Amino acid sequence: MRSCPICSHTLNGGGVRCPKCQSALTLWLNYEQYARQAYQSGLLRLRGNEPAAAADLLTQAVILAPDEPVYAAALGRVLGQLARYHEAAWVLERAYTQSGAPADQAALVRAQALAQAPAAPPEELAGQDEARPPVPPELPATDQPDAPEGVS
Ligand SMILES: [Zn+2]
Repeated sequence: MRSCPICSHTLNGGGVRCPKCQSALTLWLNYEQYARQAYQSGLLRLRGNEPAAAADLLTQAVILAPDEPVYAAALGRVLGQLARYHEAAWVLERAYTQSGAPADQAALVRAQALAQAPAAPPEELAGQDEARPPVPPELPATDQPDAPEGVS
């Protein structure tokens, strides 16, 4: 699911123009494709036990597709593995705001708790719900908090 970056109209088809405001979506669709590639590469690095490299790639995915909660949720969990809990909580809050998924909420609560106790050893955050049904995105956020160090 995605929405027009100009007018926020929900897009269901694969057209190159928004059916509501007629904005050209070609460049933006390229971003979406790059984001998906970065996300998939990040997951491969994660399976290869390279969480730092995975975090870099997933950060790219989130930057390119900030309205896709699946990317943010994956990044947040990797940051949790890296014991970067403040960043994880920030990213997971975005993911949960967009997805409303209980699994994302659980991971967010866990990351926030760990961020409050920085001496705790790294722990895996709650597992991602792979069977989650697609959730229509909220309108893109306009006022975003400053990115924490390492995410921008
Ligand atoms: Zn539009």
